Amino acid sequence: MTAPQPGQRIIPGLADAPDEVDVVVVGLGVTGAGVALDAVTRGLRVLAVDAHDLAFGTSRWSSKMVHGGLRYLARGQVGVAMESAVERGILMEVTAPHLTRPMPMVVPLASDVSPLQAAVTRAGLRAGDLLRRGARTRSETLPRPRRLTATETLRLVPALRPAGLRGGLLSWDGQLEDDARLVTTIARTAASHGAHVRTRARVLEADGTQVRLRDELTGEVRVVRTRTVVNAAGVWAGDLVDDVTLRPSRGTHLVLRAETLPGLGASVFAPVPGATNRFVLVLPQPDGTVYVGLTDEPVDGPVPDVPEPTEPEIGFLLDVVSAAFARPLHRDDVVGAFAGLRPLLDAGDGATADLSRRHAVLTSPNGVVTVVGGKLTTYRRMAQDAVDAAVAHAGLVAGPCRTHRLPLLGAASRAELAALEQPERLVRRYGADAGLVVASAAAATGLAPAELLAPVAAGVPVTLAELVFGVTHEGAADADDLLDRRTRVGLVPTDRELALPAAERALQLAGAPRRSGLA
Ligand SMILES: Cc1cc2nc3c(=O)[nH]c(=O)nc-3n(C[C@H](O)[C@H](O)[C@H](O)COP(=O)(O)OP(=O)(O)OC[C@H]3O[C@@H](n4cnc5c(N)ncnc54)[C@H](O)[C@@H]3O)c2cc1C
Repeated sequence: MTAPQPGQRIIPGLADAPDEVDVVVVGLGVTGAGVALDAVTRGLRVLAVDAHDLAFGTSRWSSKMVHGGLRYLARGQVGVAMESAVERGILMEVTAPHLTRPMPMVVPLASDVSPLQAAVTRAGLRAGDLLRRGARTRSETLPRPRRLTATETLRLVPALRPAGLRGGLLSWDGQLEDDARLVTTIARTAASHGAHVRTRARVLEADGTQVRLRDELTGEVRVVRTRTVVNAAGVWAGDLVDDVTLRPSRGTHLVLRAETLPGLGASVFAPVPGATNRFVLVLPQPDGTVYVGLTDEPVDGPVPDVPEPTEPEIGFLLDVVSAAFARPLHRDDVVGAFAGLRPLLDAGDGATADLSRRHAVLTSPNGVVTVVGGKLTTYRRMAQDAVDAAVAHAGLVAGPCRTHRLPLLGAASRAELAALEQPERLVRRYGADAGLVVASAAAATGLAPAELLAPVAAGVPVTLAELVFGVTHEGAADADDLLDRRTRVGLVPTDRELALPAAERALQLAGAPRRSGLA
């Protein structure tokens, strides 16, 4: 097996990065990783960088849903809804069946939901199914919605408050195994096609022909010449171009243990008491946790690197879920909490445009193309639009977009994935590359599969094999990269502490370069 070359691997820092490329991509969230993959598969020379790490920003703080666009349909935005439904289908059936799954969702019909409200919700779910059909997503991938009896509802969600429950509405949407894993897989796929993907590399300044970058490991500053720059720096995009001003709003989730709401066989829309058509989502995860979200709070002042949930937000989410479930939730049921920032585009005169519905592609007078907003679900289309704009503006010769037919590394059909004999957790997170994860970790460490595949601590399902692979194949430079982005054990601080020695061991075994300097 030949070792991958720089430009086929994800590397921390700028050592041996090219001095001249066709496209520099700023930011390695889902958008920037998508742009890197789109551009390199059109035959362009690509350098894609992140100041911190893959998925350091908003992309790791999502609800991990693959949206079909129903909420946009409800607002009459048919085009946006259809785009979401089409991209959901591509992600679930072509590009990443291994990282996505159908997610059943239940709206409980409790005594405070009037028959009229129930009929309206049911009509909405039927319209959502029409979108699915319009997008040609198979009903085997996402089954049709239907009415549940009270008994069926309680069988799916036994922890619901049974008093007054007259049934439920069941529908299906997509769920991501993990948002940061999607980003890492897109970035690794881009690198496998020859994109130079570098973490710990901050863009200090950019115009349409060059960028000034700082290697955050060494402090060295260098200039890279380029034909075009795509600014995919998320809520920080306005730091690089004068004509884009973003004003974010914070969305907070709680993390509970699965035992807190036992037997959760579906996600639940818990209605916000006193509000019409506003829900808190209760989202079971495959790793033994449940997320509860979401809030929407304006954020003033400078954009923080890592936004923090507030106690009032935590209290609000606990209260709403307590009203829908049999057992009231308490503050000590919360084992973790995280927050992400939605970009609102400052449209001047105090007005804002919410870019979380549809993305914007803006070309600045200095030639930098900024792509901002949108969703994880629509990252591929955002990347296509941004690269189209950059190619047209810079007059580049490039092939057509190929990503709608390009499976990410590890992708396979659901039947093929089900037949794999690797551990279930690894198949969920790496798909057909699960065997590569084990084999390459064994080759790098000399350890037997039994040791590599054992949970790193009691109750913590992460394995040493994943951590070693994070270093050897996914550019992880330190324990934070491993615990907070290559795996998500960091979402529960007590589990993170238990997993820390394994992360340090993986770094040592895989021979990761020690961090120094500014990072
Ligand atoms: C609370 C919340 C929940 C959400 N839930 C969902 C969901 O369930 N499903 C869905 O489809 N979408 C969801 N979204 C939307 C989705 O998460 C975002 O649209 C998406 O992650 C944005 O990705 P991005 O790559 O544009 O930005 P980011 O992920 O923020 O990436 C920007 C990157 O740029 C880097 N950067 C910044 N400045 C520089 C610089 N100068 N040099 C180099 N790098 C730089 C940062 O380090 C960062 O990694 C949610 C959003 C929020 C806020």
